[in-house]
Amino acid sequence: NRQIRLAARPVGEIKPEDWSHVSVDVPRAGDGQFVGRTQLVSLDPAMRGWLDDRPSYLPPVGIDEVMRAGTLVEVVESRHPDYAVGDHVVGTFGVQEYAVSDGKGALKVDKPAATYLGALGMPGMTAYFGLLEVGALKEGETVVVSGAAGAVGSVVGQIAKVKGCRVIGIAGGPEKTALLTEELGFDVGIDYRADGPDGVRKAIRTAAPDGVDVYFDNVGGTILDAALANLAMHGRVVICGAISQYNADQPTPGPSNYLSLLVRRGRMEGFIVFDYAKRYPEAAAELAGWISEGRIVLKEHVVPGSIDDFPATLGMLFRGENVGKLVLDVR
Ligand code: NDP
Repeated sequence: NRQIRLAARPVGEIKPEDWSHVSVDVPRAGDGQFVGRTQLVSLDPAMRGWLDDRPSYLPPVGIDEVMRAGTLVEVVESRHPDYAVGDHVVGTFGVQEYAVSDGKGALKVDKPAATYLGALGMPGMTAYFGLLEVGALKEGETVVVSGAAGAVGSVVGQIAKVKGCRVIGIAGGPEKTALLTEELGFDVGIDYRADGPDGVRKAIRTAAPDGVDVYFDNVGGTILDAALANLAMHGRVVICGAISQYNADQPTPGPSNYLSLLVRRGRMEGFIVFDYAKRYPEAAAELAGWISEGRIVLKEHVVPGSIDDFPATLGMLFRGENVGKLVLDVR
């Protein structure tokens, strides 16, 4: 049973030496347990935060512990009444070839599809509750989303289109911005790499002359500043993530434009998707409906490989090498 464990707490960018690759015996199922063989591993920006030893919404991954990850497994042995050999199950089973589970927090799915780790999984739930609950989106509003070509951002923008909103996406590079408008139905795509911080601020102003009602922030930093500068009256800023800061090894400055919240009577609110866990079925049902109607286009970036490819694949997120939900397929 091949496993990826945390060997050392990274400082700044994660280095290959921060991981250990080990082989242990394949686990056996005890009473009330099943063993799953990993098929798909979810790669998430939040993983960087789980490696730091500081208070957060989950305890940090311990040194020499198997790296935490959402995965999709196939049951290969079961002594659990609700799981049979051949079932496909999504859960937080870690970066390893085989995992043993008592079924707590696990969800049976009908097939080994990356969508269960993407638009119908945690990122989809994040987009749905972040935009509709935290952002309190109303029909016809103007929405800006950063990280727009990613797992969460691509779904945020498409939900906003379903809701009849004007949608402006910010992403890195011309291919990604073209994808937003040509394939995903966004109204405007802004390339932050080409435009730079000041250019992004101006591009938002041009695209949303009456201001931004909801800014869904996946990246933080100067892009958050640019969005704050363009807030509409009673605008809402949803703090979903700040990937531009996750590898920082020095304290990062706060948003320099936060006083526009005062001037515009705005609100800025963070959230953690797990708080909505009880309502996931409701969101998944609605998202599945939009997907089957073709109103939400799935973007999945599946990298074939083995468990040992986890560190290299995770690095893709921080270099913007993924389009849509990044998944490692170890079948
Ligand atoms: P993505 O699929 O969006 O992948 C990450 C993307 O971030 C990259 O493709 C890249 O796109 C962009 N990026 C990387 N570095 C930078 C940078 N320095 N500045 C700007 N953009 C950068 O990941 P997810 O959709 O899984 O996650 C998106 C965000 O949502 C993350 O911040 C994550 O932490 C957060 N999140 C929060 C949750 C919550 O409960 N609050 C739950 C799930 C996710 P590009 O090429 O465009 O730069």
